[in-house]
Amino acid sequence: MDLKSLIRDIPDFPKPGILFRDITTLLRDPEGLRYTIDFLTQKCVESGIQADYIVGMEARGFIFGPPLAYQLGAGFIPVRKRGKLPAAVHTIEYELEYGTDSLEVHQDALQPGSRVLIVDDLIATGGTAIATAKLLQKIGCELVGFGFIIELRDLQGRKYLPDVPIISLIEY
Ligand code: 5GP
Repeated sequence: MDLKSLIRDIPDFPKPGILFRDITTLLRDPEGLRYTIDFLTQKCVESGIQADYIVGMEARGFIFGPPLAYQLGAGFIPVRKRGKLPAAVHTIEYELEYGTDSLEVHQDALQPGSRVLIVDDLIATGGTAIATAKLLQKIGCELVGFGFIIELRDLQGRKYLPDVPIISLIEY
């Protein structure tokens, strides 16, 4: 299936000069959605990934993470932006183009040695994925891979990620 044809390009979003890859058109397509989840699952299985938990980042990691977790027989754990999670959290700060941001996960969600697969809709510079990986490594988790629907190859985000399987379904 031609997944790329279901991704909509929006010029100048969220700011001038950025070409945003919009996945909402893929999500609303029944066959496209099913194919995407099945394809991501298949690639994880083929890579030999065995995860106790899928960790997904706010917000679009919340869309693809849970169905993948369901398929792989894993649990799903949300990583959220500052101040959104109700119980005690671990926090990591990371650099943005201007300033810093932080990501949080519940302290009791993961233990040292938990095998985790990080999932998001898209990898660009890799900043979000790296921050999440650092957050999990701080806890002592075993990172078993990354899964993305879209990879923007020119930005070379994957080269900054730890040496584990990195899966992407669509490349630009
Ligand atoms: P990075 O941290 O790798 O530079 O950026 C990836 C993060 O920004 C992901 O959480 C992703 O959801 C979001 N993102 C950046 N650009 C796009 C885009 O063109 N389309 C979508 N859907 N998300 C994007």
